[in-house]
Amino acid sequence: MARGVNWRRPVKTLVEGLERYEQQTREKYRDRFAALADGQAPLAMLITCADSRLVPNLVASAEPGELFIVRNVANLVPAAREDGDEAEHCSVTAAVWYALEVLGVRNVVVCGHSGCGGMKAALAPEPPPSPALRRWLALASGSVETWRTKGPLDSTLAEHDQLSQIATRQQVANLETHSFVRERVARGDVRLYAWWFDIGAGRMLAYSEKDGRYVPAVEVVGEPELRVA
Ligand SMILES: [Zn+2]
Repeated sequence: MARGVNWRRPVKTLVEGLERYEQQTREKYRDRFAALADGQAPLAMLITCADSRLVPNLVASAEPGELFIVRNVANLVPAAREDGDEAEHCSVTAAVWYALEVLGVRNVVVCGHSGCGGMKAALAPEPPPSPALRRWLALASGSVETWRTKGPLDSTLAEHDQLSQIATRQQVANLETHSFVRERVARGDVRLYAWWFDIGAGRMLAYSEKDGRYVPAVEVVGEPELRVA
């Protein structure tokens, strides 16, 4: 196994982690949590995969109260429906609306990653046995089509990673199908980003419109960054 770690076996228990927090970490964050007790003003909203290897707070060096995060399988964002019915798959839309309208979040990031199980399932010859997962991953079918017809952004990557990079960009486009997002972006009040985490390298990339590919995220998320309103 890489670095001598057997990744299939938990190396510690949940209770050990809780004990360490109580003994070592809780006191360090006492003042910060007390200050946050009555509200939040996050720097950004992140929509990312449920995958345990994605640790947004670590990569963004973010403290409690700084990132408003929605996670789901394969970091998918349902597009607005033409009939205006937002009831299906409404969790993501509801969270984005709350972040922009109530919390005044000005940066929204969709973050995909390498080795995504959801992307592998979307490309597998057999659909997953779970009806729920089949229905959810159908949201990625347009991205599969784009990948097949237009090809990858980076042909050196594995096929599921090629798809993931395209799908992550597509989810940003899906965000803009919602009028409350589109209007804010047009006014310059909100900025949208597609990020992609290379797990093996431990490196965060972001899609660069200028370069037409993913580059180190710090090059894309430069100044002028949108601050909390
Ligand atoms: Zn994933």
